Parts: sequence; structure tokens; C-alpha cells
Amino acid sequence: MSDVGRCRKVNQDMFLLDEAVGLYAIADGMGGHAAGEVASDLAINALAGSWRQNGSPADDRPTGEVGELLREALSEGNRRICESVVTRSEWRGMGTTMVAMAVTGERAVIAHVGDSRAYLLREGELRLLTSDHSWVNEQVKLGLLTDEQAHRHPMRNIVTRALGNQPEVEVDLMEESVQPGDVFFLCSDGLSGMLHQDEIQEILTEHGASPRAACEELVQRANAHGGEDNITVIVLSRDA
Ligand code: CA
Repeated sequence: MSDVGRCRKVNQDMFLLDEAVGLYAIADGMGGHAAGEVASDLAINALAGSWRQNGSPADDRPTGEVGELLREALSEGNRRICESVVTRSEWRGMGTTMVAMAVTGERAVIAHVGDSRAYLLREGELRLLTSDHSWVNEQVKLGLLTDEQAHRHPMRNIVTRALGNQPEVEVDLMEESVQPGDVFFLCSDGLSGMLHQDEIQEILTEHGASPRAACEELVQRANAHGGEDNITVIVLSRDA
């Protein structure tokens, strides 16, 4: 589910849900003059196209190989954005985050760049799987800000790594097992910036078995807290 929020005129977030191949992603575009939407759209299309071209991963494909496919797909998005910027001066500076998850049988492989996130709710406990490429998260890692200070910091929107900003991009990869009852959750910062982790945990615990209800509640809650940015959420639930 994706929502413009209560403060922005346009929604620059894009998402991909392809249950047939087990591929899910969110891209949060940045840049004025419609450039943000262009960047997130280019990245999502590059991911989908690259996945189709390389063959949808079969359940028995090794997760290392799936990770490399994801890395290559995000790099392709990065290349396409960099190439597009050259053609239109008003697109200069555009970029996008991306969090992408591929599910192959009992494993989930996650790739990310920027501050869009992946979480896992398992046995009532919500764990953040990704580490934001953001200025505030760098300060938290250095011990200069607490999580709470970072959450409210005026510079919390500064992303330190994005697709479209450099000719080469470093993609973070991780993998997780998929167990009965697991709820995986992907979101843009319009959600994670508005809700604390314990509130997300509470909503996913209550509604996780029904992803649509969970998405509706999460978006509604982010808007109730101000809806300062575009809000995009994907909830993936494995039957218990
Ligand atoms: Ca955003």
C-alpha cells in the first residue's frame, strides 16, 4: 500500500509486488521537478526487467546467486538513473533509495541502498534487518546520537547512499530464514519516521496474519502522527 501522506502533493515512492517470482521492493525517490518519481520508477523497472532477463530464481537456486542477481538489478537501476540525468538538466541530483526482497523457498534475500527498511516480526519480536544509509544512523553508530535523538533529528532525511548519485553503488545484502508465522515488513521512511519500532511491532503482532489490514492500520497511523512524507508499506506473512 502506498499513500501520499498529509504534507506532500505527489507520491515519489514506487513499489513492486511480484508474487509469482517472490520479488518485493520499495523505492523512495528524491529530487524536484518530478525527478524523484522518475528515479524511483527507473529503479523499480530496472529491478523487474533485470529479474525477468536473468530468469526468475527457482526455489533451489543458491541464495548467494540470488543475492548477486539483486545486487546486479540495483546496479542496473543506478546506471539507468545516472544515464537519464545526463539527458535532462532539471533531473540533476535525482536519486532513489531501494529495499528489495526475494523469497526463494525457505530463505529471504534482502538488498538495500538508502533508508528504506526491512523488518522481521518473529515470535512477537520485531527486528530491524537493514541498517539505514543516512547521516543520523552514522551518528548513532558513532555514539553521537541516541536512537530517539536520531528519530526526531532535523537532518534525519539526509541519505548518505542512494541509487543515481555515483557511477558505482555499493549494495548491502543480507539473508534470513523464512519460518512459519514470520511477518516480513518493508517500508519507506514516511512510515519508519512517523512510528516508533514498538508501535510497528504492536500493529504487526495484531494484524500480521492479515497483511491488508496491517497495511491499512500502518498507513492510517503514520498519517495520524502527521503524515509528513509519502508512506509505502509491504507486509508479507508466512502461514503459521
Ligand atoms: Ca521518503
